[in-house]
Amino acid sequence: MAFDKNKIRTRFAPSPTGYLHIGSLRTALYSYLFAKQNNGLFILRLEDTDLERYLEGAAEAIYSGLKWAGINYDEGPDIGGPDAPYIQSQRLDIYKKYANELVAKENAYHCFCDKETLEKMRQEQIAKKQAPKYDRRCLALSKEEVNAKLKTKTPRVIRMKIPASRVIEVNDLVRGKVSYKSEELDDQVILKSDGYPTYHLAVVVDDHLMKISHVTRTEEWLPSTPKHILLYEYFGWEAPQWAHLPLLLNPDKTKMSKRKGDVAVGDYIKKGYLPAAMINYLAFLGWNPGTPAYAKASAGKEKEIYSMEELLNEFSLERVHKAGAIFNIEKLNWYNAYYIKQLSLDELTKKCLPYLFALSGYPDPAVAESGSKIKKIVALEQERLQTIAEIGEHAAFFFNLPAYDKTLLKWKDMTDEEIKKSLAASKEIIASIFDSEFTKEKLSEKLFAKAGEYKNKGELLWPLRVALSGQKNSPPPFDIIEILDKREALARIEIAISLLSLQKNA
Ligand code: GLU
Repeated sequence: MAFDKNKIRTRFAPSPTGYLHIGSLRTALYSYLFAKQNNGLFILRLEDTDLERYLEGAAEAIYSGLKWAGINYDEGPDIGGPDAPYIQSQRLDIYKKYANELVAKENAYHCFCDKETLEKMRQEQIAKKQAPKYDRRCLALSKEEVNAKLKTKTPRVIRMKIPASRVIEVNDLVRGKVSYKSEELDDQVILKSDGYPTYHLAVVVDDHLMKISHVTRTEEWLPSTPKHILLYEYFGWEAPQWAHLPLLLNPDKTKMSKRKGDVAVGDYIKKGYLPAAMINYLAFLGWNPGTPAYAKASAGKEKEIYSMEELLNEFSLERVHKAGAIFNIEKLNWYNAYYIKQLSLDELTKKCLPYLFALSGYPDPAVAESGSKIKKIVALEQERLQTIAEIGEHAAFFFNLPAYDKTLLKWKDMTDEEIKKSLAASKEIIASIFDSEFTKEKLSEKLFAKAGEYKNKGELLWPLRVALSGQKNSPPPFDIIEILDKREALARIEIAISLLSLQKNA
């Protein structure tokens, strides 16, 4: 691909009509990587010309989502830049001027048709089995008629004129050559009656004025590109290069949507996904580095772990796939678990604290700060966590023994009496260990020795573990006891024993 590396400028141009979508973050990432690996600049622009769909707070979610992910823009609404403002609703005069320029050049025209007229036209065309399209009746108006209507302020829009019998070719960096016949295109509205531009005019004007060299966006915008190409021609401007990215899909191959799971970046932030994991995962959703020898790990498997730094070296638009990319939450969880394991215990503890505070008002922050208990819990869970938020769920039992049914205490076909005896044996052993040597190593040595006396070790260890945690799955009992401390562990075993007696008599 030949391009002037000194002039690479890419942009991310979301509409603040919803919270930052995970697919949009992927688009932003690819734009960012391409700009930065070419010493270029990456620009953020808000496309908020659709007043009806504007959502309060969406712009802030875009800024904070990008910052969270480490996708730092060089120019943007909240940081300014030489082409400010970067919010389209603040640039209305600019679009008006350019729309009028096209009218003067006869590449565009005023259209006074109201909603009812357009709807009737549509219905008639459908009845005649024609593709609905504006029939250009306002193009036939004389200059005098147009002026008279403008004078009386008849509501009007401005439409671009699509030329007859043209083949318009999009040379896409991902999809190659894609051709469109001009007959397939409608005389697109470029300026609405409220003075706002449509997306098509605004995107072309801004990409030009902001000197964007490469436009990366998802493939749903590909059919709009021939119209954009015509607008560049009409203005006499050099067009940017386009790269249309594959869509993100649900596992059932439908377009990724809220109904099938979380799509907002904010949801993933709340659940405790790490930015490094998200970036690594998103990079691979629609791209892969190929399998050059140096990219292979020693086990002969493809390298899957890439830092932002490595992505900056390896990413290339040429290797972006054409086919839609399936969003697979298990794979994201795999990446997240990997990056959680890489954190130091201090870093992870810090990230876990907010979720642990949330546990029934305990521990208070002071306890947690000093807390070796918290750190021990985090250390124990580090291997098992897929998201940081899970720590809340996983660790809750350390703070409050959950209510559980006595049947959970049962290993295989043990009777209640046998379970009680087993728990009493554990209790005795735990109680016999001096405080000075009360460590998980000592606990495991003594308890394992005792467990060896049973037909199956589970007969001792299962009821004990459930008595301590109140749940089916939890870390080994020795680790739990050490964290709970002797008194609390013995109290919980006592509770289990009385539960067995109580429920029997009930
Ligand atoms: N505002 C459009 C969007 O919401 C931008 C499309 C483009 O990048 O041209 O995705």
